[in-house]
Amino acid sequence: MGSFGIFKMVTGWALSKPATRLYPFVKREPYAGTRGSIEIDIQKCTFCTLCQKKCPTEAILVKRQEKIWEIDRLRCISCNACVDACPKNCLRMLTGYSPSVTARTVDSFAQEQLKSAAEASKTAQ
Ligand code: SF4
Ligand code: SF4
Repeated sequence: MGSFGIFKMVTGWALSKPATRLYPFVKREPYAGTRGSIEIDIQKCTFCTLCQKKCPTEAILVKRQEKIWEIDRLRCISCNACVDACPKNCLRMLTGYSPSVTARTVDSFAQEQLKSAAEASKTAQ
């Protein structure tokens, strides 16, 4: 290849768009149907524990008495089994992934409002 050919090649590279995204400034939108992370509508949950029983990695813990639903996101393999099992359709698979973490944490969701309402009606009786 002559010097003109090399010049043309280098100029082409210099003027072309980068082959990769400038992450984290430019992020790719997730594809439809991507299994990212589990979301719960805790107000619809009946704490039946079906999701916990179906979860193959024991990522879910349902505390029936306390009306608390917990998920250890580092255990979750996004298999969707809990979403399929939930009779109340209160679980949903989001396309976005959970943010990265440096320490193990458990996400906890409490049905506080309903619990408080139930306690208030008990007191009123
Ligand atoms: S299966 Fe649904 S309703 Fe039952 S505990 Fe799990 S999230 Fe709640
Ligand atoms: S998606 Fe699968 S691994 Fe994750 S919490 Fe649900 S059942 Fe468990």
